[in-house]
Order: sequence, then C-alpha cells, then structure tokens
Amino acid sequence: MSTATLTIQQQDSAHCLHPFTNFKELNAKGARVIERGEGVFVYDSEGNKLLDAMAGLWCVNLGYGRQELVDAAAKQMQQLPYYNLFFQTTHSPAVELSTLLAELTPEGLNHAFFTGSGSECNDTVVRMVRHYWASKGQPNKLEIISRNNAYHGSTMAGASLGGMGFMHAQGGLPLPNISHIDQPYWFEEGQGQGQDPQQFGLERAQQLEQKILELGEDKVAAFIAEPIQGAGGVIIPPESYWPEIQRICDKYDILLVVDEVICGFGRTGEWFACQTYNIKPDLICLAKGITSGYLPMGAVMVCDKVAQGLTEADTEFAHGFTYSGHPAACAVAIENIRIMQQENIISHVRDDIAPYLAKRWQELASHPLVGEARSKGMVAAIELVADKSTLQRFSKEQGAGGVCRDICINNGLIMRACGDTMIISPPLVITKQQVDQLITLAKQSLDDTLQALS
Ligand code: PMP
Repeated sequence: MSTATLTIQQQDSAHCLHPFTNFKELNAKGARVIERGEGVFVYDSEGNKLLDAMAGLWCVNLGYGRQELVDAAAKQMQQLPYYNLFFQTTHSPAVELSTLLAELTPEGLNHAFFTGSGSECNDTVVRMVRHYWASKGQPNKLEIISRNNAYHGSTMAGASLGGMGFMHAQGGLPLPNISHIDQPYWFEEGQGQGQDPQQFGLERAQQLEQKILELGEDKVAAFIAEPIQGAGGVIIPPESYWPEIQRICDKYDILLVVDEVICGFGRTGEWFACQTYNIKPDLICLAKGITSGYLPMGAVMVCDKVAQGLTEADTEFAHGFTYSGHPAACAVAIENIRIMQQENIISHVRDDIAPYLAKRWQELASHPLVGEARSKGMVAAIELVADKSTLQRFSKEQGAGGVCRDICINNGLIMRACGDTMIISPPLVITKQQVDQLITLAKQSLDDTLQALS
C-alpha cells in the first residue's frame, strides 16, 4: 500500500463517517480510495482498474468522464451558480428541465417538484399525497402502503416507506401510517413452495387489496413501489404483478407512486420502467440517472389530477429544499437528456446491449454456485446457492455474497452483494466487448468464490 493511500485512509478513518458502514470494521481495514473514472472504469489510488458494473450507485448511466456534462455545469455556475425557487422566483434551467420532463414522462405527468435526492423525493411524496387528500376534503386518507424489502431512501420517511427491517430497527421506524405488504420475490419466497411465478405474482399483488380492506379504503392515500426492486436484490416481478396492482389502485382510488430512482432514464430499455410494465402512475420519483450522478438531483413528477388538486386548494404546500431545482444540477440534467437523445441510448439499451447482456448473463446460470440468473434491461442478478439441485442457501455465517463481492473487486469487477444475491447495473453506454469482459470476470470470480467457500 502506498504512503499516499495510507495517509488518505487514516484521515478518512479519523474524520469521515461512511453511509451504511460498520465504522469499526472499516477503520480496521481502510477504505478503497477511488481516484478517477473513464467510461465504464474507475481507478483506485493503487492503480487498480475496476470495471464498474454498478455505475457508481446505479447512477452513472452515461459513464465517467463526459466532458459535455462538466461543461454544462461549469457554464451554468458561471452565469448563476445558485438561486432558489422559493418566494415566487424561478430560473430558466428549472423551467426548461420541468418542461423537458413533462414531455419525456408518460402522458398526464406534467409537473415536476425538484429535490436533491431520491430520499427527498420520497419524503416529498409522503407529504404531497397526504396534503392532496386533505385538500380534497379527505384528511383521513393518510395511510401509505409499501412493501417488505423495498428501498426508498434513508431519510425518516424514505426509510419508513422502505421495507428493510435492519433499517427500521435503528431509530424507531417506520413512522406511523405506513404499512408493508410482501414483495414479488419468486426465487426466495415462491419457488420453494412450488408456486407458478405468475400465480405467485398475482397473489402478492392481491395482498394490496387485502391491506386496503384491512385499513379501510377511505384511509389509504397511496401505494408506492419500485418497478423492479433494486437494493432489495434486483427483484424482477412476474408479468402478472403490475397489471393487478394497477387494477387495485384504480378500483379503490388509491394514488399509485412509482419509485423510478433506479429504473428511470433508460435502465429498462424505455425512458421509464412504467412504460416497460405499462403502469399508469400518479407520481414518479426520479433521481440518479437524471444527471448520470454528476450532480445531486431528484424530481417528483406529478400528474395533472394531483397538481390540479394542490392548486385548487389555494394554500401553500409547506415543503421544499434549498436545492430544489439547483440551477447547475438542472443544467447537467438537461445536457444528460440531450446526450441520451442524440446517442439513441434508449434504443441502444432496448434493441442492442440489454438483449446481449441478457444472453451472456444467462451463461452464469450453469455455474455450480448459481441458483438463478435473471435480468431486465440493464439490471441483472444471480442467486448464490450452496446446493444447485435443492437451491439450498449458504449459512449466514459463511457470508457467501460478501466473499464473492470481495473476490470480484480483487479481480477488477465491481459487483454488489445483497445478502447472497449478486447484482449489477452497469452504465448504459457499456459496449458488447465490455459486457464480454464483465462476464469473463464474473465467471472467474464465481470459480474463485466456489473454491473459497469449499
Ligand atoms: N429510491 C430508490 C428506488 C433507490 O434505489 C434509492 C437509492 N438507492 C433511493 C430511493 C434513495 O435515493 P438517494 O440515495 O438519492 O436519497
């Protein structure tokens, strides 16, 4: 380890508290120092080149080192680095981006509320949907239904909407009036029971109806879900799932909120995953890929019905952030979308690179460690199992996912572990040759993991 790296690690341990991290464990080990990025690769301070199959945290969709995005930020910062949208003011970058988003998102979603992150989007959702129903004379419609093992962020409301037990355990969550139904995770919770995936998807969706009836139709404000659960382990729902969710939301007049923080901006081969799954949401949460992660930014897209309700209420929506509509972040988002259009990123994903990734990713299914390989667009997962014939998992103590993740990194591949589910979400601009490289590294890492675990 170089002295320069050691110095950074020591200062890091002394002063920097990392997200979702066991501080003691990290301080004993020292953090990996990432220095620069180019295309789909990042480089650490020891000169290692890593294929970033996670696009940072599901966000660097156009890859690292895009000069146009840097220039867009610099130009805007010179002209107007900051101003806010409070106190009856506005600025062109926010107006231009909200107009662009209204055009890009599905019909009827014509209003953007800007935030600084995905978590802030979901906090905004909680406050907005409750305020909407109160404005419509239904203040008792407070309940929001989400799902176990969902991820909607780390703020109090985001973590409450999320269904991660280990997060709820810290800080007394969830907040009141938020409840959870089961997830459509067939590999983990359906196939062991010998259920048909489509029947399983239907049953999981129908839990929403049961929950609405249990809570009372007049008490439920909204249902929120990721089209494909990301941080939960790239859980791709059976095709039967979303149409049934849609039917139930329509039947009971429940607002449908789709959290597209990961899936938005091309990841599933359409601009938005609600187009992939033919979902008609009332609100959509966007972040991450909106700027390819170059600057922090999020947006809640709001349908005409809700925006009209809030407008007719003729009261202040007492909510907003200093960085709502940050001009430089807006400028980067506008440029990011322009590049996506110019380079036909959506059709590249849908017709070219996602089908190629799907084909090559399936090759991993035959590995002795792999119980299932699945993908949709540019997200994919493999399930690590101890026994391929029975799909028996490894024991928790063996920590197979963590072992595999560390081996991947040592081999030059950033793949993430969610328990024993290994997941990827590569930059959308990845080439076929780089997908080949990814698969070669993944196979090698699986072989090494098998050896390490036996
Ligand atoms: N929603 C989803 C679906 C996410 O995946 C994430 C982040 N991984 C968030 C919300 C939270 O976003 P942020 O970390 O920007 O607050």
